[in-house]
Amino acid sequence: MSPSSNAALRARDLAHVWHPCTQMKDHERDLPLVPIRSGRGVWLTDHDGHRLLDAISSWWVNLHGHAEPRINAALHAQLDALPHVMFAGFTHEPALQLAEQLAALAPPGLSRCFFADSGSAAIEIAVKMSFHHWQNRGRGRKTRFVTLANSYHGETLGALAVGNVELYKAIYRPLLMDVITVPSPDAYLCEPGETPLERARRAAAELERVLAAQAEEIAAVIIEPLVQCAGNMRMHDAEYLRLLRDICTRHEVHLIADEIAVGFGRTGTMFACEQADISPDFLCLSKGLTAGYLPMSVVLTSETIYGAFYDEYAKLNAFLHSHSYAGNPLGCAAALASLAIFREDAVLSRNRTLAAHLDAKVREIFADHAHVADVRRCGMIAAVEFVRDRKTREPFGWRERRSLAIHRHALEHGVLLRPLGNVIYFMPPYVITPAEIDLMVSVAREALDHAVRH
Ligand SMILES: *Cc1c(COP(=O)(O)O)cnc(C)c1O
Repeated sequence: MSPSSNAALRARDLAHVWHPCTQMKDHERDLPLVPIRSGRGVWLTDHDGHRLLDAISSWWVNLHGHAEPRINAALHAQLDALPHVMFAGFTHEPALQLAEQLAALAPPGLSRCFFADSGSAAIEIAVKMSFHHWQNRGRGRKTRFVTLANSYHGETLGALAVGNVELYKAIYRPLLMDVITVPSPDAYLCEPGETPLERARRAAAELERVLAAQAEEIAAVIIEPLVQCAGNMRMHDAEYLRLLRDICTRHEVHLIADEIAVGFGRTGTMFACEQADISPDFLCLSKGLTAGYLPMSVVLTSETIYGAFYDEYAKLNAFLHSHSYAGNPLGCAAALASLAIFREDAVLSRNRTLAAHLDAKVREIFADHAHVADVRRCGMIAAVEFVRDRKTREPFGWRERRSLAIHRHALEHGVLLRPLGNVIYFMPPYVITPAEIDLMVSVAREALDHAVRH
């Protein structure tokens, strides 16, 4: 066995590593690990020389392709100047530029940037800041959070508590704070004859009832605008965000927008909130922030929130949260290079053409499939809901692990897909070509045919 072969790396991995979101026993038999040697554009290459099209942007982080030359160059330059410095008491040019650019790009009123190192950390910060803001303002009873059914906000205990995906959450329930869960405006759950717009209004009416009764004890509502990504790529009408903003404002409750997955152009606009023309009180960003290069996150908020913490030291009401790598200069440099690419390559306008192609292709290939109940798309995300019975929408049982069969089949045919539950989705880097979209979608079709056969 060559020491640099897939097999050699797999064996070494299984001896010492524990992978995220994985039953490790699967890797011994049904699901060989994939050792990747290099990446370029949408392609990854494994240690045996096989190429894989990264159809899910390496878990939704990669925007402009792997090993993008301009981002690489920016990182090399920053590496020679300053790889890291603590961010308490110190500052640096890359963080300043990034904060200035994010404040200019974000929905109006979000002019303060608090840096951290992961999406989950950003959620913890928004939750703590919202709570703490109300404490500092003398509204000590506002301690609870409202979350949407089927939402996902990360894995640390606070983030897990405000999320609603049972698979990740159930076992930890004794450790989690109690939250209020309201129905999701999810368009897949429309009643017969109901439009997504009507569904959004109905879900908002439910939320209004909860806030009308309990706003005195509620700090914030948290939402993933437009697409619940980990919750099987479920999408909703932007009307819900408009109504949500209005309801929160009227009841004096914060709105936390978790755009960790959907920010940076994924839904077609730079930020999903723009499609409803709203500004949240907190905007959480990570994943695409560094275009898939480095772990980094940021919470943007308003001067009003900031003002509740700004005081004499002796008042002891500052926000004393910190992470060792907050504001890391390399992360900032990657983020700045990514934002420059958005401008130089007119990425959002190029994506409109690509998204239209993706839409047409996915519908052409899947819309009439006997095991497909729904095809949906929002910006550069397309999803295919596969079911046992198209008419009743009865899903396949989870024990059948059809999505594992799809994942494996696609891997063997050169495409990295990782279905969520009974949903195949495409979330490719923005540098994918129309021909690569066609390839990715047709391999997915073969994989689905294969998976429903046995
Ligand atoms: C991925 C994700 C998170 C968590 O981010 P991590 O960096 O994995 O901690 C939170 N919210 C949403 C919507 C996400 O997709």
